[in-house]
Amino acid sequence: MYASSEGLSTVAIESDAIGGQAGASSMIRNYLGFPRGISGMRLTQRARSQAIRFGTRFFTGWPATGITAGTDGGPHRLHTDGGDVLARCVVVGTGVTYRRLGVASLEELVGNGVHYGAAMSVAPELVGQDVIVVGGGNSAGQAAVHLARYARSVMIVIRRPDLTATMSTYLINEIEYNPRITVCGDCEVVDGGAGEDAHLAWVELRHLDTGEPERREVRALCLLIGAEPQSGWLPSEVLREDRGFILTGRDLPAEAWHGDRPPADLETSVPGVFANGDIRSGSMKRVASATGEGATAVSLVHAHLAGLD
Ligand SMILES: Cc1cc2nc3c(=O)[nH]c(=O)nc-3n(C[C@H](O)[C@H](O)[C@H](O)COP(=O)(O)OP(=O)(O)OC[C@H]3O[C@@H](n4cnc5c(N)ncnc54)[C@H](O)[C@@H]3O)c2cc1C
Repeated sequence: MYASSEGLSTVAIESDAIGGQAGASSMIRNYLGFPRGISGMRLTQRARSQAIRFGTRFFTGWPATGITAGTDGGPHRLHTDGGDVLARCVVVGTGVTYRRLGVASLEELVGNGVHYGAAMSVAPELVGQDVIVVGGGNSAGQAAVHLARYARSVMIVIRRPDLTATMSTYLINEIEYNPRITVCGDCEVVDGGAGEDAHLAWVELRHLDTGEPERREVRALCLLIGAEPQSGWLPSEVLREDRGFILTGRDLPAEAWHGDRPPADLETSVPGVFANGDIRSGSMKRVASATGEGATAVSLVHAHLAGLD
């Protein structure tokens, strides 16, 4: 929408359905301009029709499979199984996929006390509340430590007996010494439900060693059970960090710069290829930030085009 409304000839390539993760959210409550929230599907459908009005052409069902970078300022070639697209600039926003918990009653409460990968930004809303974090990796540990600065109690729920196989020792130590954090090993989340305000109110756990259920009153359930950046299709010239998130701007090592300055803020190691949203290393993992970065990328595209012959 931002690219075509700023006069750029724009093609959007989507492997699946328009909307991405936002389209999967039953209610987005923190997007500017919607004080009562809006369903992710409605928000993304509106965005799509707005983009079409400005002239964006959409191709859905075609995963991008690669980019052959242009040389000497020539266009980049974006590959799909349905054919190639030549483009002076490419903005990569292929996001992440989160492993789902698979408990239907809790999936319905996503955005209403149940959060995938958003523990950092919801923490300030949880002062004095009880919270469960599901996951045993470093991102779950960091989320628990951060949440414990606000919440009254944070319980980490993991299927394994303890955290030793999956979390760094420094985080395990920090968790052990934090009186607000407990770890429930050999345990899984099996059910949950809302209170009168339609917000998560309780979660049912099952202790795998005894089969015993346990019901806990909680205000938030943060699910950190694995996020996979969708960057495997990119060529090696587009540098990524260890986990696969795309490096941009000053985060790129000096060897990857073209000239004596770092690339522009959202620019990757390939000139004219930009990254926005969740796929970008260091991004905030919110709808508003992904959208804002998309808008910012457009001015960088214009600057890049102005520098070409
Ligand atoms: C259930 C859920 C609820 C959420 N609720 C909120 C909320 O309330 N508020 C909030 O601010 N944030 C929320 N988030 C986070 C928010 O949705 C994301 O931060 C945001 O959608 C990121 O947008 P994005 O465009 O970077 O990536 P994505 O939304 O991940 O979109 C990436 C798109 O790229 C497509 N794609 C992937 N690979 C390829 C390929 N090779 N070729 C072509 N297309 C490809 C995918 O199909 C997808 O449509 C939620 C996330 C989830 C999962």
